[in-house]
Amino acid sequence: MFRGILHKLIITADEKGKAIYTLPLEDAQVSLNSLVGESLSLRFLGTISCTCCGREIRKTYDGGYCYVCFRRIPEADFCSFKPETCHFQLGTCRDPEWGRRNCLITHTVYLANSSGLKVGITRSHTEETRWLDQGAVQALPIVRVTERRHAGIVETLLKRFVNDKTNWRLLVSKDAQPIDLIQERDDLLKSLPERVPIEVVDESVRSFSYPVERYPEKTSTFDFNKDPVIHDRLIGIKGQYLLFERGVINVRKFGGYHVSLHAG
Ligand SMILES: [Zn+2]
Repeated sequence: MFRGILHKLIITADEKGKAIYTLPLEDAQVSLNSLVGESLSLRFLGTISCTCCGREIRKTYDGGYCYVCFRRIPEADFCSFKPETCHFQLGTCRDPEWGRRNCLITHTVYLANSSGLKVGITRSHTEETRWLDQGAVQALPIVRVTERRHAGIVETLLKRFVNDKTNWRLLVSKDAQPIDLIQERDDLLKSLPERVPIEVVDESVRSFSYPVERYPEKTSTFDFNKDPVIHDRLIGIKGQYLLFERGVINVRKFGGYHVSLHAG
């Protein structure tokens, strides 16, 4: 039996691209891959803590913050979701030191195949984590730029042609069909206006696989706010989703929730 506060799943890939999952709890780092196929009880214990300041709260904002942190920290700012609106150069960054470390650094615009073709951006040193978090089975960096805002601008241009969202229902209900990402990249880059100063990168496609025994028959979601107990057989893990026979849960959505986990 393990107890602790939920944070997003830690995902790494082995040399073959197989996703290795760890659930980080206070008293243990729980390896999840070996639990696929097992009956589990995952129980919300009724307490929620802000994942930033630790204060006890009744509801979370943006997947784990108290309202004060949500309004204060740069990670929860609007520009976090809309990188093209990064306002560092206006002198209004919530935390310029954080901005220098996290936004004024090399970013990657990539194509991925999660529930289908999508475009996305990420800090270049966290590419793999980003793809695994999204449950991508293929990914290809296409452009690198020197700061976050530029990545957002390129993404905005490409969004006219490609989705930038993952369809979670598709993601948790079937395997994605392979896509020729190189071909997609070549077609897409032709659509960019010539005046956009970007560094196009030529890399190979990365492939990933997830520990999914099978998919749930219905894509209903578990919600700890309505039902505090999930007692079901874990049949897979993909992206930040735990797949059970009777439904799925997006772990990231319940950051800060105190839970217990036991097998059987
Ligand atoms: Zn807080």
